[in-house]
Amino acid sequence: MIKSNIETIRQSIPPHVKLVCVSKFQPSSSITDAYNAGERLFGENRPQEMAEKAPNLPSDIEWHFIGNLQTNKVKTVAPIATLIHSVSNERLLDEIEKQATKLDKFVDILIELHVANEETKQGFSPSEASNILSANFSEKYPHLRPCGVMGMATFTDNESIIRQEFKTIYQTFQSLKLSLFKEKDYFCEISMGMSSDYQIAIEEGATIVRIGSSIFGHRQYT
Ligand SMILES: *Cc1c(COP(=O)(O)O)cnc(C)c1O
Repeated sequence: MIKSNIETIRQSIPPHVKLVCVSKFQPSSSITDAYNAGERLFGENRPQEMAEKAPNLPSDIEWHFIGNLQTNKVKTVAPIATLIHSVSNERLLDEIEKQATKLDKFVDILIELHVANEETKQGFSPSEASNILSANFSEKYPHLRPCGVMGMATFTDNESIIRQEFKTIYQTFQSLKLSLFKEKDYFCEISMGMSSDYQIAIEEGATIVRIGSSIFGHRQYT
């Protein structure tokens, strides 16, 4: 089942787009199935769950942290995650820098943008993102490497709203790239699109899609 789901999804994703298999709430056996089907990027949104799964699964898996992250959980996530997608406020930047310094490693991050029509969603506005990334970012956060942006569309059936929000994420990325990261090859990722909207996201320029339920089926929330 998982294998054939992945084959179907892979056919609709161009080769330059990365697939993060969102394995939150899924057992390790499901991750192993996806791994055996060739997948290497997995996304989790609960620090403890990621910390429990990672050591028991193949070491060439790259773990991406995709969820709302509390500052006191950064020390759990920073040693494991190869990319933190959901950096949504300044306190989090401060804490990731602190933990990265302790670990003596560079941490790759995406700046989460708030473009949806929902107060509940996290993230920087496009202008806040520009301010935070320009104001001596690399002096203030020498262990952090901003690799691009991440965002989520409003939870709605209205495709034109979703598409418009993805366009805003794309345009924000482009404007940051041109103004601040023109010569920086590492600033190259646009993480947007989930099971319900990843095809629109790819049309609007996503370089990473995060897909859970279309691969693993419905989650059993525990
Ligand atoms: C759960 C989650 C996904 C995957 O959602 P599906 O609808 O299951 O594909 C993607 N991104 C984030 C941030 C998530 O929390």
